[in-house]
Amino acid sequence: MLEIIGLIFLSRRNGRVAVEKGYNKGPIIVMTVVLWIGLELIGVILGLSVSDELGPILFCGIIGAIIGAILSLIITNSLQSKNTPDSAAVSSNSTAVPLKGQWFCENCGAKNAIFDDEKCFKCGELKPQQRVEPLG
Ligand SMILES: [Zn+2]
Repeated sequence: MLEIIGLIFLSRRNGRVAVEKGYNKGPIIVMTVVLWIGLELIGVILGLSVSDELGPILFCGIIGAIIGAILSLIITNSLQSKNTPDSAAVSSNSTAVPLKGQWFCENCGAKNAIFDDEKCFKCGELKPQQRVEPLG
């Protein structure tokens, strides 16, 4: 019974991490359950091959379940995140008109934000002061 609670907690934890990285939680939960129960069964089978007593056989099963749980954690943690936080910033590069406060570098053409008010962030070229038109 305690084992089932542990498996539910681990499945939910791995599923939540998968969702945070942009994956479906279903396959991750299935993988967690299969690794846990599969390695537990392998542990029991190995235990049966070396002992006739219940204690050592159950112990091998528990060791197998723990290895399965750790494997599922490692696999879930190593998932590559599908979320790209700066995907919205890339599209703004297509516009050729600088927004208010932005300026283009004359040397390399990089678009500089207003807070890069001295030099180009890319090549270090000085900001072209004569190109700044007065507002209004
Ligand atoms: Zn530049």
